[in-house]
Amino acid sequence: MNNTPKEILSKYWGFDSFRGSQEEIINAISNGQDVLGLLPTGGGKSLCFQVPALMKEGICIVISPLVALIENQVDNLQKLGIKAIGLKGGLKFTEVDKLLDNCIYGSYKFLYLSPERLQQELVQERIKAMNVSMFVIDEAHCISQWGHDFRPAYLSCSILRELHPTPPMVALTATATKRVSDDIISSLDLNYPFVVKDSFFRKNIGFGVILTEDKNGRLKQYCQQIKHSAIVYVRSRRKAEELSKFLVKNNVKATFYHGGVDQKMKTERLNLWLEDKVQVMVATNAFGMGIDKPDVELVVHYQIPDSLENYFQEAGRAGRNGDFAKAILLTNTTDKVLVKKQFIDILPDVAYVKMIYKKLNTFFQIGYGEFTEAKFHLNFNEFCNIYKLNTFLTYNALQLLDRNSVLSLSENFSKKITIKFITDKDTLYRYIDKNSKLADFIKVVLRTYGGLFEFDTQINMYLLSKKTAISESLLHQNFEQLAKDEIIEYTSVSSDLEILFLVPRDDDRTINIFARNIEEQNQLKIEKVTKMLNYIENDTVCRSIQLLEYFGEVQEKECGICDVCISQKLGNTDVVHAKIKIIQLLKQKTAGSQELEKRLNINQDIVIAALQELLEDNYVTLNTINEYQLL
Ligand code: ADP
Ligand code: MG
Repeated sequence: MNNTPKEILSKYWGFDSFRGSQEEIINAISNGQDVLGLLPTGGGKSLCFQVPALMKEGICIVISPLVALIENQVDNLQKLGIKAIGLKGGLKFTEVDKLLDNCIYGSYKFLYLSPERLQQELVQERIKAMNVSMFVIDEAHCISQWGHDFRPAYLSCSILRELHPTPPMVALTATATKRVSDDIISSLDLNYPFVVKDSFFRKNIGFGVILTEDKNGRLKQYCQQIKHSAIVYVRSRRKAEELSKFLVKNNVKATFYHGGVDQKMKTERLNLWLEDKVQVMVATNAFGMGIDKPDVELVVHYQIPDSLENYFQEAGRAGRNGDFAKAILLTNTTDKVLVKKQFIDILPDVAYVKMIYKKLNTFFQIGYGEFTEAKFHLNFNEFCNIYKLNTFLTYNALQLLDRNSVLSLSENFSKKITIKFITDKDTLYRYIDKNSKLADFIKVVLRTYGGLFEFDTQINMYLLSKKTAISESLLHQNFEQLAKDEIIEYTSVSSDLEILFLVPRDDDRTINIFARNIEEQNQLKIEKVTKMLNYIENDTVCRSIQLLEYFGEVQEKECGICDVCISQKLGNTDVVHAKIKIIQLLKQKTAGSQELEKRLNINQDIVIAALQELLEDNYVTLNTINEYQLL
């Protein structure tokens, strides 16, 4: 075990040199020092602890947030002939027991587990009995409520210190705002840590913001140009499915990925994409951490993300192999209003949280000062309906009450009922003819929801029950019947919410305790969204410089490849020239941007820049079929 870090690097990984601060981090760990490593996505954080772990006696314990990440890392280590164990979800007690025994007696070098696992007593007990070489907290920003992926379970990482006070503790993340890194150091109680931050500058990614009223057309154009892989990020499951279909129709090999896709399909699709059988993955942010494909040459954001952290992480999945790659954010004139609706208008303020808390108590007839230990069932939709409450705001208010330990919400909360028709319409009409009892019911369902033949659609049972005058339990029976007859696919998980109150009712005072916290959190979210919007609007400063500034990094050199740099390089004369030609052509007929490019034989970037200016200056507008016309 007396190899040097370099020898280990080449022996196991076949690489000949370290990147960035890898070597410094490895040396610090070897000297027994705690470390906070802030390295960009793809910067090579794993090697920072994997190399020293192979140099040290004992087992390295890694806390990682996602099962998929754990599996991926453990697989990779095993392929290199290194003994590693991952505690996945769904393991029986005896299996966990056996695996942990292996860690104690089986000369394993790595144990990967989730923070939730770490909370189990059995796991803690066994870790205590292990010869631990070091602790690693991967994706450490999850420990901070100022980060974008706050996972309360991560707070329990500090227990590791109690189990073994001496081994070094290594925290790694690609998110590096000052607040988050301070939080990591204090939450993990890092002891005089070696803090190192590598530049987040990704010199081979050309960032760009494209204002277009024809996002689909643009998306198609970008996707048709790629040779290897692309990711398209959207905000909703439905959009993911819709866009993937649209691309397939346009001869792009695409598929989709989101939280509602079952586990088997997820793995299947991920593999298709990894093996280049599918080029474009249209996905929600469920397709995220740990996605490590080197040759992603394009990441498109079809909708505006809620923060620059998230944006940079997602866009950063492009160009890991160092080749030129593009990160494009598509936006249109209505997006900004939408962002406000989606992210800001749904933040309950203190008064709203107080109001919800009172209504909840009234609903369950809990008196002032009273404390009940019973669990309450709440039909969420009914509750919102009775008091005429906005469901998003109410949902978030309940979450806030839960996070601040006023009450505890059951996990079933967000699961609902979804259906999708799987027959064609003719078969359905014949079925309706034969089953007159279900005929009216089916018709109401079809009339109430659009897209039932295309998408899994969430059904609001409370509303449907009111509309059909059929009880909810009978509605379930009807759906079950339809599923049995293979007319629909039907998934049903109780949407009832279970609530356990944790403190006696004390109305305002209960909430006042964390009122400031609510306000701060809201303020933080608003700030994040605002900075995201500023980025989109600022077309005079190099995109990389803007992004790095957000992470507290001063970058003086312009990237030279983002939309801002390019349009400055192109110089105004080209754009002015293009504007004149475009206006001449539009005098004769309306045209889309792609047509303009072809007919005028002008480079795409220049046409886009010219059109953007013409739109802003109200010379042209878009008609209903997304063609430009003179105003
Ligand atoms: P991060 O966790 O920081 O996002 P990873 O640890 O997953 O990054 O590493 C990203 C990729 O870079 C991996 O494919 C890894 O093998 C590769 N890599 C890491 N360090 C080096 C190195 N010194 N030389 C060459 N490739 C490296
Ligand atoms: Mg990593």
